[in-house]
Amino acid sequence: MQTFEALLREAEVTHGHLCAGQILGVRMAMLGCERLGIGDPKGLVNPKDRKRLVTFIEIDRCATDAIAVVTGCRLGKRAIKFRDWGKMAATFVDLGSSLSGLPTALAPQLDTPVYKAIRIAALESSKQRARELYPHIENKNQQQMLAYRELPDEDLFSEEWVGVPIHPREMPGYKSARITCQVCGEGINYDREVHHDEKILCVACASPATRYYQPLTKEELATNLKAGMETSPQPACEHC
Ligand SMILES: [Zn+2]
Ligand SMILES: [Zn+2]
Repeated sequence: MQTFEALLREAEVTHGHLCAGQILGVRMAMLGCERLGIGDPKGLVNPKDRKRLVTFIEIDRCATDAIAVVTGCRLGKRAIKFRDWGKMAATFVDLGSSLSGLPTALAPQLDTPVYKAIRIAALESSKQRARELYPHIENKNQQQMLAYRELPDEDLFSEEWVGVPIHPREMPGYKSARITCQVCGEGINYDREVHHDEKILCVACASPATRYYQPLTKEELATNLKAGMETSPQPACEHC
């Protein structure tokens, strides 16, 4: 495993700044790898450890980038699974240890293997521990940055062993046929097509009401053209 300091520097470069969230994320991911016995998740010297990890992340905040840096897991490699639960928690899944003899609730389909994983969540009390450790530092980010380096894992995190079902089609490296949506004509990967009224559709065409976007009419576009060109300020980092 790379050292904490080296990983933190990498996280700082990737994320754009150093903050308490980076420190927490680096430590959380290092702990996850340690628990799974994955010493070299990025396969820098031991290629066997590369591709052993899939990480579920329950928040899109500063720590998320740090977790990607430590684990080498990337959204674009399908090795990060984002669950938008707004929780400072992540589950590190070891693809090298599939489990057997589990209740069917865990593996609803026979073709879905269940893997051993460690779920780690940041403790709400960690902020209080930081205050206790550095009461004289008023800046919360500075206070937490110092404390999160030093506090023992058990003061920062709770841990739980869990089983995580991952269907082969959700795995990194899964090859699927590309299907064409019969309405919009766009290509669909990874078996995301929907069979509807004897047609094969993409999700957006099958249920337009659930789209995360809605097409604008010419009139709407013209009215909003000026407003759309104004740039809104970047949201500041939560910790800074
Ligand atoms: Zn940050
Ligand atoms: Zn479509």
